[in-house]
Amino acid sequence: MSPRVIAIDGPAGSGKSTTARAVAERLGLAHLDSGALYRAVTLGVLDAGTPESGDPIVGLARSLPVRLSLVGESFRPEVAGVDVSQAVREPRVNAKVSAIAALPAVRDWVNDELRAAADLHPRGVVADGRDIGTVVFPDAPVKVFLTASPQERAKRRSLQAGSGSAADDLLRVQSDLARRDAADSGRKVAPLVPAADAVVLDTTKMGFEEQVGVIVKLARNAFA
Ligand code: C5P
Repeated sequence: MSPRVIAIDGPAGSGKSTTARAVAERLGLAHLDSGALYRAVTLGVLDAGTPESGDPIVGLARSLPVRLSLVGESFRPEVAGVDVSQAVREPRVNAKVSAIAALPAVRDWVNDELRAAADLHPRGVVADGRDIGTVVFPDAPVKVFLTASPQERAKRRSLQAGSGSAADDLLRVQSDLARRDAADSGRKVAPLVPAADAVVLDTTKMGFEEQVGVIVKLARNAFA
């Protein structure tokens, strides 16, 4: 395992990925977005129309292949050699990804891919997801659990997706996030919970630079 792993977990829309990317840039590490790999597998399944059980899905992911490819300082999701960074954000993927991510065989495969990816970068990674500090990298020297109120998370996710800020749009995004939170927190395997040794950061009232600064400081102290 890479000696330098910063684990950032939290619910959908908590700002994990944008925060992880900024922390990685500040520290010269690579950004590893584990959700993007679950999303890429889901996209592969949707396009191939595979039956939805674990082993055939892993077989499909290996054969397409679905992978994270290190481009510059971040890992890009690819399906059959095609960059799917945009496609994995489609609503049809949002609707299906939590069900596929709940399958133990899929999780085992993703975890192996994430650990192998982290070893590819000489300086280490800032990895974000739901179970990075609890399951994927339990020995990570820095673990952060990011949260924010459901309303604030819906607002941020709408801004990020470029969808409207009208009350209806926000409610729709908020209910999509709530559905995924419930699925991710309630599943048997690797549910969304803070690691016992994670620093919990509620960012509802925090500025972006402030939250990045807190994590960079934690990392500098841990890696000093
Ligand atoms: O982080 P993002 O919202 O892109 O993740 C998409 C979905 O992938 C989550 O809702 C969750 O079901 C799954 N996921 C997971 N474990 C991770 C990262 C993502 O189960 N470490």
